[in-house]
Amino acid sequence: MYGLGIAKGMWVTFKHIFKPTFTIQYPEEVRPIPQNARTNLVWFEERCTGCSTCAQACPDGCILVATSPAEDGSLNIDRYEIDFRICMYCGLCTEACPYDAIQAGGTWKDVTDDFDSMYRDKQALTKFAHEHLKESGFQYPNGMQAPQDVIKLIERES
Ligand code: SF4
Ligand code: SF4
Repeated sequence: MYGLGIAKGMWVTFKHIFKPTFTIQYPEEVRPIPQNARTNLVWFEERCTGCSTCAQACPDGCILVATSPAEDGSLNIDRYEIDFRICMYCGLCTEACPYDAIQAGGTWKDVTDDFDSMYRDKQALTKFAHEHLKESGFQYPNGMQAPQDVIKLIERES
């Protein structure tokens, strides 16, 4: 029937007039983002044993872990580095870590046009993790509270 398509289209428009809008006026408005959303990767040295499971789980080979034996039988973490230039934020490293030492979360606002700064070494990752803990009331993305010695260390740094 002539005009049926127009009527159907108008009916869809009419139905949506009375529904709440879903549009967020970014950047004036920011949608709430869960603390453990896959926005970034945060590595917490105090939780890491240097087991390298994360590095083995990463399909892109982004993670480098170098360790040496410590006197107490554990491992010194000499290097821990993530190459965010090739990371696809799949989260497999976070799922593989038995100690929740690398977790999904953290800011999504650290965009940069400096490509090389996306290679983060142990020092840069620790700075990022401490900033995250300070901003989140010393809570890890998984909801656990950071230990007192880490809180004291971060407070001394600021
Ligand atoms: S998020 Fe995926 S690609 Fe990125 S470091 Fe982890 S495992 Fe590798
Ligand atoms: S982040 Fe987790 S999986 Fe990776 S070396 Fe540390 S403890 Fe092992």
